Amino acid sequence: MSPDPVPNAFARHNHRRCRIDAMQQARAHCRAAGLRLTPVRARVLELLLENHRALGAYELLQRLNAEGLGSQPPTVYRALDFLGRQGLVHKVERLNAFTACCQTDPGHEPMFLICEECHRVAETPLERLMPEIDRDARALGFRVKQHVVEVLGRCGDCQGGSGR
Ligand SMILES: [Zn+2]
Ligand SMILES: [Zn+2]
Ligand SMILES: [Zn+2]
Repeated sequence: MSPDPVPNAFARHNHRRCRIDAMQQARAHCRAAGLRLTPVRARVLELLLENHRALGAYELLQRLNAEGLGSQPPTVYRALDFLGRQGLVHKVERLNAFTACCQTDPGHEPMFLICEECHRVAETPLERLMPEIDRDARALGFRVKQHVVEVLGRCGDCQGGSGR
């Protein structure tokens, strides 16, 4: 809605605030839609918001088990499915994992910057690039259903020390 800079995993931001805001938005969204953000759903979202790291379903399951919340894989899959349909989390195909959405615009299609080292994921809007992608696709007679753009690399924190 507002053009505030989107809290981004790789940009300095008040992450405490960012987590609180995201949870509040999620609760407000569910309330407005008449949906229930059950304890498991809320906890899955909180875990994904912990430090912007994408987590796989198995990792989430282990965390929930350790906390005594929902012990069966279907519980986690159902929660992820719910959060995904509400646009509160996105699947990161490359990592076969999930990341909390950090944007308020409902129908957006994100582009992901994925740190291969720490698996933190930043979401940036794809809108700017979409016309060009669509133009290329159209030229090939291809009809686009969904844009999935994932960019691999290393975040600022992971660039120091060993390696390149
Ligand atoms: Zn944050
Ligand atoms: Zn998003
Ligand atoms: Zn990193």
